[in-house]
Amino acid sequence: MILTTALLITLTATAGPALHSDAKTTHGEPAQCTVKGYECSTSKTGIVIGKTGDLANLAAVMDDAAERYRKYYGTEPAQAALVLGGSIDAGLKADLDSSGFKTQLPWLTSEDKAKLYSSAIRTQIKAQKPDLSAAALEALVKTTMATLNKTGGNNSAVQREQGAVAHEFAHLWYMDAFWPKKDHEASHNSPQYGGAGPDWLDEMAAVLAENETLTSSRRSRLVTVLKDNPAEALWPLKEYFTMEHPIFRKIQKQMEAVQKEASDGVTMKTRVVVYNDEEYKKLIGGTGERDPSLFYAQSRAFADFLIEATGEDRIFASISRHIADGGTMRSWLRDVGKEKGLPTTLVDLQTRWDLWLQTRTGSVA
Ligand SMILES: [Zn+2]
Repeated sequence: MILTTALLITLTATAGPALHSDAKTTHGEPAQCTVKGYECSTSKTGIVIGKTGDLANLAAVMDDAAERYRKYYGTEPAQAALVLGGSIDAGLKADLDSSGFKTQLPWLTSEDKAKLYSSAIRTQIKAQKPDLSAAALEALVKTTMATLNKTGGNNSAVQREQGAVAHEFAHLWYMDAFWPKKDHEASHNSPQYGGAGPDWLDEMAAVLAENETLTSSRRSRLVTVLKDNPAEALWPLKEYFTMEHPIFRKIQKQMEAVQKEASDGVTMKTRVVVYNDEEYKKLIGGTGERDPSLFYAQSRAFADFLIEATGEDRIFASISRHIADGGTMRSWLRDVGKEKGLPTTLVDLQTRWDLWLQTRTGSVA
């Protein structure tokens, strides 16, 4: 049994006790630094609250992400609060709400995650090999952790984490700007797959806000898969524009279990599930199915293609407005394709996209 993949499933529910807040804010004052036992760092974009961790650096990461968001969407991102430690309690949430932090993200640092992983791994090994000595158990936990860390690739964990913060905030900013929730839903913060917009556009906003580390890993991933299997590597555009996020579908069962556990009032619940290779392959899809993580590589490539073809950084803002007003990708192309320098039908767009992919990756169809 070699455990090679750990899946971290986090979601938001309603309210809870984990991060205790004694914050008393006077009107108009942000909740910053009045949270007992916590440090804060503020920036132009918002606030980072936590007990430990590089708060100032993460505040700068939020500013960078906001800069990229503005570049591609042309609107000011909502005030953001990043709360380290994995959950936001009801008191802190109320404070952040009343201080105007419309987008709130509970966050596990890579250190937090490492702790969760090693404890999940220890539990699992213990269950499978109850006779191991304590020393042998710890050695096996260590080896398994090292295997897991290797799957992260060459990029530093810090840069990947910073890219992920940007990615998640962009989901929230995008949803807030283009698909705002109705008043009665406003208190429910779900960073992913929760919005009314099409999943590809939601994911696009997140991918566009990523840092250079994640962006280049998406691009090189695309080149690799196209070399392996150029014809079947990606979802046809017609499907891509309307499909449900493939990862959401795959891990829905696990998410439902977490939701159930979280129902007695925690803002965010995290569960770590550790898989060996075989189990993970089974989870993400049978033979012949695309690896769901390709959805990100395809989104990055489609962004590069469309921005290049139209010369407009804000092309996804135009598409999003059209679809939020009740249109479809088909009607957007028909209405404005020509003036944007694009084909006016999905079929022709697919042809042009295929050609672009060939030149971009050097693959010959
Ligand atoms: Zn995402």
